[in-house]
Amino acid sequence: MQILDGRQVAAFHREQIVRRLDDLHKRDIQPELAIILIGADRPSGMYAKSMQKVAHSVGLSAEIYYKETAAQEDELIDMLEYFNEQKHIWGILPMMPLPRRLDTHRIVNCMDPEKDIDGLTDSNIARLVTGRPGFVPCTPKAVMAIFDYYHISLTGKEVAIIGRSNVVGKPLAQLCLNRNATVTQCHTRTKNLPLLSRRADIVIAAAGKAGLVTAHMVKSGAVVIDVGINRVDGITIGDVDYEGMTEVAGAMTPVPGGVGAVTTMMVLENVVCGHTQGT
Ligand code: NAD
Repeated sequence: MQILDGRQVAAFHREQIVRRLDDLHKRDIQPELAIILIGADRPSGMYAKSMQKVAHSVGLSAEIYYKETAAQEDELIDMLEYFNEQKHIWGILPMMPLPRRLDTHRIVNCMDPEKDIDGLTDSNIARLVTGRPGFVPCTPKAVMAIFDYYHISLTGKEVAIIGRSNVVGKPLAQLCLNRNATVTQCHTRTKNLPLLSRRADIVIAAAGKAGLVTAHMVKSGAVVIDVGINRVDGITIGDVDYEGMTEVAGAMTPVPGGVGAVTTMMVLENVVCGHTQGT
């Protein structure tokens, strides 16, 4: 079984980002990534800090703008509108999910779509669906970057995606469709998931359920992409039973060191390189 090494893919993109930043710095242009963190939620806070650290490691300025959990909707909208106007801020990344009492849709859509580097606004979603250039959510984009790096074509392939969230599963399905795959989108109400996943040439697990995808759910030689991140007994694992899968899959991403490793780089790439085509 071939390991699809996310760290290698990330290193490849990292080089391009560093080169682009060098070029910008020579011209005295210092773009900034504005990370918005609401409340002291631990996973989001850790993600924000690690994002900032990776940004700094490539020479990109990244600030975390913190708001109390009790922050009002209008306060956040004012903040976004301020960031929209700041020329040096090239990308805005609100840590999701926002607290439940806030109208996430209203807030997110106050972002300038040209700075919405995680493709959250309706405008960028519409661009993805219609195949026009726009910002594509970073995790689905990372999956595409893995396919590109390893020259895995999607044309005519059957792809089973397990998960239908707005940030991962749905944009992934659209990206695969844009690349001429035949897509089956599976979710909690799907009947006979193993039957559907076994038919697929490529299985993408994005459910957030440790050990959900086992060897008997995948056909021999299939490509298995594990987007899931689960903490079990203090260890980070994906949605795929990795050990069992090594006997069956043709290629697979590990966790950690797979999609997650590439996602962070896609955030930075979106900030410094701008749009990519939605395909
Ligand atoms: P989510 O909880 O919003 O969505 C999960 C989806 O999986 C839902 O659509 C649900 O219907 C489906 N699902 C859950 N259990 C299922 C089951 N037993 N059978 C079939 N479908 C099932 O999660 P999300 O935000 O889409 O994230 C999915 C996973 O990807 C999580 O583990 C998350 O931590 C991980 N993630 C990884 C990255 C990365 O960079 N690698 C980034 C974002 C999210």
